[in-house]
Amino acid sequence: MIRFCSLGSGSAGNALIVEIGATRLLVDCGFSVQELERRMARVNLSPRDLTAVLVTHEHADHIGATAPLSRRYGLTVFTSPGTRLAARDDRFSSIQEIQADAPLEVDDAWIHPFTVPHDSREPTQFAFSDGDHRLVLMTDAGHVSPHMVEMATGADALLLECNHDPGLLAAGRYPPSLKRRIGGGYGHLPNHAATELLNGIDQSRLRHVVGMHLSTDNNHADLARQALAAGLGCAPCETAIATQDTGFDWRTTAPC
Ligand SMILES: [Zn+2]
Ligand SMILES: [Zn+2]
Repeated sequence: MIRFCSLGSGSAGNALIVEIGATRLLVDCGFSVQELERRMARVNLSPRDLTAVLVTHEHADHIGATAPLSRRYGLTVFTSPGTRLAARDDRFSSIQEIQADAPLEVDDAWIHPFTVPHDSREPTQFAFSDGDHRLVLMTDAGHVSPHMVEMATGADALLLECNHDPGLLAAGRYPPSLKRRIGGGYGHLPNHAATELLNGIDQSRLRHVVGMHLSTDNNHADLARQALAAGLGCAPCETAIATQDTGFDWRTTAPC
């Protein structure tokens, strides 16, 4: 059984908790240490309860206060060599470098880091397994690569970026260079890409899909829900999205 919840998702900060057996992982710490402590307390946890921290890439909404958190709580950080190189503060308590497509075991958790097209040094997103079920995190990708389709196929749970609506992005207040970055092939996934990815994968095991990393400026929850619903063949009200303030509540891959 995999249990997971988000403490917040979006360009102002990301943090995900994944529990497999006795192993409890934090994926990204895009908040200050104090803010992470506050958000963990909301789910009755403290950073002391963590086994390790995984970092997807060096953008501040993901790496955030990972280094001070690691030092304060003696936590090992798992990240790619490129992310470590690009980190402004890489004085982690200890570090384990990971490679895309080189799965690793951390106590009870099996972790498969995989590459995504994103404008950072060496980004990896993650698939997690307990041996029976698979949870796939897929955010901060400019387009859907064949490898991402492969990784999402057969997942039991998929946390999928629905960053923006291209029309809202084009009409919005961002400067042209930032619009090009976000909407480009190494930026962030638009809603319709989430639909396309869902349409392209085997959904026979899929029981959890949550829209992630929604832009507060260039998206609306309704539009993201419509995109997920179109990919899942369900009603928009049956879909789920993570928010910047509260993420999403605990979910589990165990049968209902
Ligand atoms: Zn991000
Ligand atoms: Zn990013």
